[in-house]
Amino acid sequence: MAAGDEILVVGAGVVGASVALHLAALGHERVTVLDTRGPEHLPGSTGLAPGFVGQLSATPELAVLAKDSVATYLALSAGADEPPFRQVGCLEVATTPARLEQAHADVEHGRRLGIEAYVVDAATAVAHAPALVDAGRALGGLFIPTDGAAEPVALTKALIAEAERAGVRFRWNTPVGALESENGRVTGVRTRDGGEHLRAGHVVLAVGIWGPVLAATAGVRLPMVDVQHPYMFTAERPELDDTPIDGPLVRYPDQTVYARRHGRRYGLGSYAHRPLPLEPTEDLTSAERPFVASDFETALDEATALVPAFRGARLGHRLNGVFAMTPDELPLVGPAPGVPGLWLAEASWVTHAAGVGRQLANQLLETGDTLVDPARLAPGRFDAWSDLKVRETALGNYQGIYDAH
Ligand SMILES: Cc1cc2nc3c(=O)[nH]c(=O)nc-3n(C[C@H](O)[C@H](O)[C@H](O)COP(=O)(O)OP(=O)(O)OC[C@H]3O[C@@H](n4cnc5c(N)ncnc54)[C@H](O)[C@@H]3O)c2cc1C
Repeated sequence: MAAGDEILVVGAGVVGASVALHLAALGHERVTVLDTRGPEHLPGSTGLAPGFVGQLSATPELAVLAKDSVATYLALSAGADEPPFRQVGCLEVATTPARLEQAHADVEHGRRLGIEAYVVDAATAVAHAPALVDAGRALGGLFIPTDGAAEPVALTKALIAEAERAGVRFRWNTPVGALESENGRVTGVRTRDGGEHLRAGHVVLAVGIWGPVLAATAGVRLPMVDVQHPYMFTAERPELDDTPIDGPLVRYPDQTVYARRHGRRYGLGSYAHRPLPLEPTEDLTSAERPFVASDFETALDEATALVPAFRGARLGHRLNGVFAMTPDELPLVGPAPGVPGLWLAEASWVTHAAGVGRQLANQLLETGDTLVDPARLAPGRFDAWSDLKVRETALGNYQGIYDAH
């Protein structure tokens, strides 16, 4: 593409911010990011995520994207008083002999991917995170020292600040109503209320759970499903100070539960409930939905019984946050099939967002230098699938994404 062509990125969550930064870092001078939101509050999934960044995925492409993201997040955090990413490690607690055996296999898998991991005994697992590891149930665990905890809002702000330094412009309070096309090619966007037509050589959609709504305005179907997910906090604890996190992230793979410290509170999430899809609409103003006690309560009760810091504790906010899933757990990254001028960076996690930004920027600018085979992330890879198959496969994998991430 011509160096002078305008690129519009729609969405300034962690993914859009990363795409913009990488486009500018590769030397593209005309990049503008549009978002409905203002510069402070993040109404999308990024603003709700507890920030687990785990690299040792069963899916090698996700591991590559996560490793690259960790490198970017560490670089952004270097020297910061309040780093948006801390490499505190991740402890996967084994509560069954089969999981402990799996941990040994995971060490080998990690070695092949260049991710250090080792098996720890029960006492070491408890010592790593006494408030979060159940001494009565832990048989041992897998420790991954280079994993870490992001503060996703601060991380996105750091990506945006870096992008602005590299010349990217951000237009806040600018909701996009539709993609504009001429002769089958996307030529820009139309803003929602004023109906302003902003022209561009290329448009990148990075609007997370809102992706299907905007893509449909150019006749593009996104093979993804939005799902609702519970996360809860304890009330503030007098014995804790403002230190965001002082030990590893803790995961219980057998129970699909995960937990961490957030300053004066602890938090946990669970996948042990039936998948709960959500149909996005233009009117949806936030990724946080009302808490669905009928679907989430049993899962959270079981999780609080498992994690010591939650047992008998005063509880705080319980949230229902929405994020996007694909049928194969990989994000949608690359050109929209059959619609020149339109690019997608959708259904990515915080864990992979920086790698996704690098991948998309290199593809769009045709550098020939990508992190993973573009075909593996190609948005058109499910074109032969019916809507029903996409939806049922993605939802059927809801608990599987716990393992994939
Ligand atoms: C409860 C919960 C727990 C999670 N836990 C983790 C975790 O531990 N680790 C992890 O890696 N991931 C986690 N995730 C997933 C992760 O948060 C998301 O996958 C990721 O933040 C998506 O980022 P995004 O930039 O694509 O989308 P978003 O953060 O949703 O950003 C999209 C942006 O697009 C803007 N936008 C939407 N429509 C328009 C429009 N028409 N015009 C202009 N702008 C528009 C929105 O305002 C928003 O700012 C979790 C998510 C939830 C909800």
